[in-house]
Amino acid sequence: MSRVYRPKDLAEALQMRADHPEAAPLAGGTDLMVTRHSAPREAYLNLFNVEGLSGIEVIQGGAIRVGAATIHRQIACSPEIQRAAPILAEAARVIGGRQIQNRGTIGGNIANASPAGDTLPVLLALDAQIEVQSAARGARLIPIEGFFKGYKQLDLAADELITAVIVPDHHQDALYFRKVGTRAAVAISQVILAGRVKRVEGRVIEARVAFGSVAPTPIRAREVEAALIGHPVDPRAADALDVHPIDDIRGTAVYRRAVAHRVLRTWLRAL
Ligand SMILES: Cc1cc2nc3c(=O)[nH]c(=O)nc-3n(C[C@H](O)[C@H](O)[C@H](O)COP(=O)(O)OP(=O)(O)OC[C@H]3O[C@@H](n4cnc5c(N)ncnc54)[C@H](O)[C@@H]3O)c2cc1C
Repeated sequence: MSRVYRPKDLAEALQMRADHPEAAPLAGGTDLMVTRHSAPREAYLNLFNVEGLSGIEVIQGGAIRVGAATIHRQIACSPEIQRAAPILAEAARVIGGRQIQNRGTIGGNIANASPAGDTLPVLLALDAQIEVQSAARGARLIPIEGFFKGYKQLDLAADELITAVIVPDHHQDALYFRKVGTRAAVAISQVILAGRVKRVEGRVIEARVAFGSVAPTPIRAREVEAALIGHPVDPRAADALDVHPIDDIRGTAVYRRAVAHRVLRTWLRAL
């Protein structure tokens, strides 16, 4: 039998995290509980319904602060997110089915660090920051790009929890999200593309092109971003894409590479 620690609020959760490093943080459990028999944990730290860890608020500069234990359904339905970062709402809407969206959290999606996690390329395209906290050292903010160190490796110390995601206001930018899976719904992604382009007088001054499911971590296609900057959008920038996916049960490397190019070209043409 595993022990379960049940903190009331964030301060207690952080203290328990420090005191019981063997306890796995447990948010919605939609990833963790799937492995409870094959990889049982000695103890769990229950974060679901911990006061101060969920909710969506507009902060300075119109940015949105999303608590780590906020469920996908709340993100999908949030007017604030639909205005500032609608692609995050779109991604939340295609994570699993309704049951998963009512239980799975954004913090769990990030901490699980699957290359196929649907919110991760979106957060890269949005230049999100991850807020982590520990009882001993307080809070720090990490640009999402530096948060994924390698396959399932995060910039997160053993006594830290992810406490929030900060998403800047991008309502004036052109945004794009496309998930390709083996079927239209309740599918794990074969390729995810999330993009953002800011233009002044028709020329691109900022570009983010992020992919999931084509590398060990979510990645930015900087070669495409560089090809876009300084010009009107040219779909031929997609030719610069250089990704090296692997074969796995959901698709071959050849297929994934072809799809990545195709979805990127489709987006750039639509721009
Ligand atoms: C049927 C099914 C369908 C799914 N479909 C999709 C899909 O389409 N797209 C997709 O991206 N995912 C999918 N998933 C995976 C899963 O639902 C998501 O990754 C979800 O966001 C995980 O959140 P959770 O709160 O349930 O995480 P949990 O299972 O509670 O935790 C996941 C990991 O994160 C850690 N963790 C959780 N919260 C924190 C925190 N605040 N700080 C530090 N560590 C933390 C846990 O210790 C664990 O390692 C699916 C899962 C199932 C079972």
